[in-house]
Amino acid sequence: MTSQSPDTKITFTSPIRAPSAVPVDDAVIPFEVDALDLRGRLTRMGPALDEILTKHDYPPQVGKLLGEAIVLTTLLGSSLKFDGRFILQTQSDGPVSFLIVDFQAPDRLRAYARYDAKRLKPGADSGSLLGKGHLAMTIDQGPDMSRYQGLVALEGGGLEAAAHEYFLRSEQIPTRVRIAVGEEFRGGERGKHRWRAGGLLMQFLPKAPERARQADLHPGDAPQGTVPHTVAEDDAWVEGQSLISTVEDIELIDPDLSGERLLYRLFHERGVRVFKPLALHAQCSCSREAVSSMLKSFDAKDRSGMVKDGKVVVTCEFCSSVYEFTPQEAGVENA
Ligand SMILES: [Zn+2]
Repeated sequence: MTSQSPDTKITFTSPIRAPSAVPVDDAVIPFEVDALDLRGRLTRMGPALDEILTKHDYPPQVGKLLGEAIVLTTLLGSSLKFDGRFILQTQSDGPVSFLIVDFQAPDRLRAYARYDAKRLKPGADSGSLLGKGHLAMTIDQGPDMSRYQGLVALEGGGLEAAAHEYFLRSEQIPTRVRIAVGEEFRGGERGKHRWRAGGLLMQFLPKAPERARQADLHPGDAPQGTVPHTVAEDDAWVEGQSLISTVEDIELIDPDLSGERLLYRLFHERGVRVFKPLALHAQCSCSREAVSSMLKSFDAKDRSGMVKDGKVVVTCEFCSSVYEFTPQEAGVENA
């Protein structure tokens, strides 16, 4: 927000102003810190997250993990400029064997998780809930465009770790991600709670690509005695990482701290520029028509197997909406 030297003219046209103190939930704020060549996005979620998680009545650990996946999806998917879709899913051997978050640009979110209640242990962290497996990110830009899919191994370290691994290996963009999900308990109303979450993604994008070199991860499978290949990271990126490492979970989810204030708190010494926030909504794309045509895609034998108590009932896994059809409507012959 300020020029670094008295000799430098401020050339950008956006006005310099104080950070807004008004917290905005269910939004992603894009930002940049020019002096450090950093670009990023900050997500704050309240009612939309609560709506998705509450509909399913997940056990708290599962809700928290799915909340993390939702925040990560908004951080990654909100950069889509087209009317596309970003889908994040995991398949793994932990108590939460599958989860999916479907983000439809510009603002629609839906998600669900499959879990084995018998295997849930109190206090289990996200990494052990997922276990080992993989995380897939799919960008779908419609039927005429090719799909992009990125895959990264889940090694028991949770979603933040998987995101870091993905950006290091696949995108080779120095990236840090922070995610926090919590339950806000309202005074006076016993058992009443609301889910909240926040996340921060920060990337180092210098004009000179050689400045983006990164310290490699330790080569776990290298022969004994191998000296790890170490690279000195750019000073600006070292500073950026040290700033983001100071963000506390409570700051990310605090309903009284505005996103702009949080960004200002982090980057005020260098100057931070924020862009127009992008709104997020919990909204499923299922419909009676879509379910009906899905039913018709099954073969006749499968369809007749779906009839129970004289009707066919389909529940949307994303939003728990229930669709009821008569056997005739479901295309069951000889019903
Ligand atoms: Zn639905």
